[in-house]
Amino acid sequence: MRLILMGPPGAGKGTQAKFVADRFGIPAISTGDIFRANVSEGTDLGIQAQRYMDQGEYVPDSVTNLMVRRRIDQPDAEPGFLLDGYPRTLAQVEELDGMIAFTGHRLDAVVVLTVDAEEIVGRLLQRSEVEGRTDDTADVIRRRQELYAEETAPLVEVYRDRGLLIEIDGMGEVDLVTERILTALDPVHQS
Ligand code: ADP
Repeated sequence: MRLILMGPPGAGKGTQAKFVADRFGIPAISTGDIFRANVSEGTDLGIQAQRYMDQGEYVPDSVTNLMVRRRIDQPDAEPGFLLDGYPRTLAQVEELDGMIAFTGHRLDAVVVLTVDAEEIVGRLLQRSEVEGRTDDTADVIRRRQELYAEETAPLVEVYRDRGLLIEIDGMGEVDLVTERILTALDPVHQS
């Protein structure tokens, strides 16, 4: 299974990504998590990424694409993977197409989580208290939402046109949302 999980900041991608990936025995690859790990380890990649992340801007495609390519090349991603937070731009879509084509596989589905705008702000502010992420301040959240609308939301139509899109209601209990996703992916998994 080669899956993408999309949705605006605060839609619950990270939470759901782990459950869904576990179910299919594939790694959940979160670009945000990889960047944050690199920031805390003080690697070159972390140093490059941090100034963008702290302002809610996207890390340049060249940096992000290379990082994902390396991660997908790891042996654990050979049977498949679930991408959380990538692709976020049209250039990343093209890059990912190339990476997957190169391995002779195809993308199976793109799950997009839909959540009310009001619910999202509440979730993000709550997360900032729990996790202390430096990019969960009101201003930076607003910038991330803006960028999502401008750069990432258009990808939904790209994948819809390819017949890969599965839209899932992301409102409600975590378990319920997981169940919705797994039910929708069942026929994809069978085929
Ligand atoms: P969220 O989805 O809640 O906004 P993430 O944890 O997925 O947060 O990402 C945090 C930050 O990492 C983003 O705001 C951005 O700076 C950077 N980032 C993550 N994925 C990408 C990507 N595919 N392209 C560019 N930047 C990215």
